[in-house]
Amino acid sequence: DIIEVDYIWKNGELVPWADATTHVLSHSLHYGSGVFEGIRCYKSPEGKSNVFRLRDHMERLHRSAKIACIDLPYTVDELCDATVELIEANNLPACYIRPIVYRGYGVMGVDPTGAKVEVVIAAWPWDSYLGEDALENGVSVGVSSWRQRSINAIPPAVKSTASYMNSILAKLEAKEHGYAEAIMLNEAGLVCEGTGENLFVVRDGVLSTPPTSDGLLEGITRDSVLCLADDLEIPALEESLTRSDLYIADEVFMTGSAAELTPIGSVDGRAIGKPGPVTRALQDRFFDVVYGKVEEYAEWLTPVTVK
Ligand code: PMP
Repeated sequence: DIIEVDYIWKNGELVPWADATTHVLSHSLHYGSGVFEGIRCYKSPEGKSNVFRLRDHMERLHRSAKIACIDLPYTVDELCDATVELIEANNLPACYIRPIVYRGYGVMGVDPTGAKVEVVIAAWPWDSYLGEDALENGVSVGVSSWRQRSINAIPPAVKSTASYMNSILAKLEAKEHGYAEAIMLNEAGLVCEGTGENLFVVRDGVLSTPPTSDGLLEGITRDSVLCLADDLEIPALEESLTRSDLYIADEVFMTGSAAELTPIGSVDGRAIGKPGPVTRALQDRFFDVVYGKVEEYAEWLTPVTVK
């Protein structure tokens, strides 16, 4: 659930949480025309707070806006500075950050021309997305009967609000079947992604993840994991995967800014087992990096000063 804090950044200024409202006839509310991001700020056990890959997220937000033909009136630098200002004003040592750019009030109808572009950044404390136990012991997932939208419907590189209708349908179906998360196949029947996560499998010591051309969001955590695998000399490749590749994998895990690096213990009732050595090694390294323990990744961290 959302935990209320003092301020939300809206169109260039900090406004009290309760005042960060929008009109019910906002274009994005009706047509899903917004683009957004999900980012985490981590507090290390030593008490240092850093936002993880802030610039990369704001760059992706700009790419999403470009695809969606939204004129984003703030530069990447301005959005990064605004995020730091917001976290410091709210005094949040660890939080989830949600920037959203949406088409507001002004026109009704599919053509968004004339709707005011609104830019909002919110942050609040948010624990592990699927729970601490999920990170430690893994989760059960099921392949959804819902397919991920095709690359010629909503482009996968745009992180748009509209894309998540698919994810919502798949998530609700997964819950109904007793799974923590759904895996969506693409229209061609290849493994695509989770409802808010990318997917990895390990087989015979080799890590693989589907390529973005299979229609998935180019995850920043996915990219981080590929970098960390390289450091740990774990062979890694991007290759299309079928549903049965999930069943016969030695290890399967999901990645996302919210879900972090979550092991998968079973797929469609086929046991994968306890989190394996490759998953554990990557998870440990990931948390070392976000907590600022790995010097060579200092550039991925943006420090924030909080009490
Ligand atoms: N796929 C989907 C559909 C997502 O919503 C997310 C979360 N943004 C991801 C993958 C993972 O992306 P990231 O690691 O950048 O959070």
